[in-house]
Amino acid sequence: MNYRTVSYYKEFKCIGGACEDSCCDNWEIDLDDESLKFYMSQKGDFGKRMKKCTRVKDKQFILNGTRCPFHNDDDLCDIYIELGEEALCQTCTNFPRHIEEFDDLKEVSLTMSCPEASRIMLSKQDKISFTCKEGSDREYGLKELKPVSRFAFWKRGHENKLDVPLFDELIKARETIYSILQDRSISVVLRALYVISFAEELQEKIDENEYSAIADLIAIYQNHREERVHVKGWDVKECVDDPEYMGHKVQCAGHPQVICMLNYLDIYEGLENIIPEWKNTLAEGKKHIESVYYWQNMNGFMNYYKDKEYEFEHILVYYIFSYFLGSAYDHDALTKVKFAVVSYLIILELDVARWVLNDKSFTYEDQVSIAHAYSKEVEHSYDNYESLQLVLSAHPNLTTDNLRKELEYILSIERAS
Ligand code: SF4
Repeated sequence: MNYRTVSYYKEFKCIGGACEDSCCDNWEIDLDDESLKFYMSQKGDFGKRMKKCTRVKDKQFILNGTRCPFHNDDDLCDIYIELGEEALCQTCTNFPRHIEEFDDLKEVSLTMSCPEASRIMLSKQDKISFTCKEGSDREYGLKELKPVSRFAFWKRGHENKLDVPLFDELIKARETIYSILQDRSISVVLRALYVISFAEELQEKIDENEYSAIADLIAIYQNHREERVHVKGWDVKECVDDPEYMGHKVQCAGHPQVICMLNYLDIYEGLENIIPEWKNTLAEGKKHIESVYYWQNMNGFMNYYKDKEYEFEHILVYYIFSYFLGSAYDHDALTKVKFAVVSYLIILELDVARWVLNDKSFTYEDQVSIAHAYSKEVEHSYDNYESLQLVLSAHPNLTTDNLRKELEYILSIERAS
């Protein structure tokens, strides 16, 4: 088996009790059959405790408030202590690794929902790169896990087959997406705009079964994307420059792209809540978007944080690496790219809101806090992940056209000064 992963994969080490948002808090842990059977066969006092703390029919532990019932007062795991590391279930062994499997290839990412994994990723100033070599699950710290990508969200329970000819094309398409996202000669928001346009055209080829035409499309986006994508500008300069500009309030609050962004946050508000503080973070975001100073704040933050733009680049690359190739199973590449781009936009808006709240200061730890919380909310609840994919593929505010307008709007604000 070959393993492809991020080049910094082996730098990760769980920080256990020092973790500010332990993975043993705030979410239900799904138990695999083998571990469940093993736990239920335990004897003695610990066996009794395991039975008492497990909801067998749901294959889950019964949380103690918001904590895993085996997460002890010293922030250590009692299962690990009593039964050894080998006894940890698949979920606990593998976390924070996210696995996608394609015949003889496993792709393993470190999920951003772990604050420590997020910290390592966001600390890298260089472009993220990947390694691919032969190995074993053990070498990569894994217990075998059924990959999520085999199940299309609208066909839950039905296993999709890997479309090998499409997979070969998607590997090349993903390289193109990386090269656009890591093109540091232009701003990240423009890179996202090119990528969403590329994904839209790619999806057309997939839908029409024209896999042989994908190579030509890749060549166009590698070499001539500026000519291929017409970027529309919005007239926002006057409003960014002058907060007292006449009609500013009306234009800002009632602007269709501002309303659209508020709708995006509404969608996230409607998901199952995992981290208690997340609701406040979203509320901060909405307050910032509704502010009459929205333009100035967005423009101010983008200039303030220009030198750290690579953090957003990494977030986009992370989502593409983790999910894009899954379209070789469900033929829906566009939704995977939309997921990456919308995640970037939401994190950006929440960052601006935090920057405003912190008297126009924003640190690397602020970014870790927002990015990891975002990921925990959307990637580690199966229902949230599925709902979001459905919304991304069907919601009228999330059409490619609308997303493009949103990105053009942010780009115009960024360029206004
Ligand atoms: S979230 Fe990451 S660092 Fe924190 S306890 Fe879990 S694996 Fe360790």
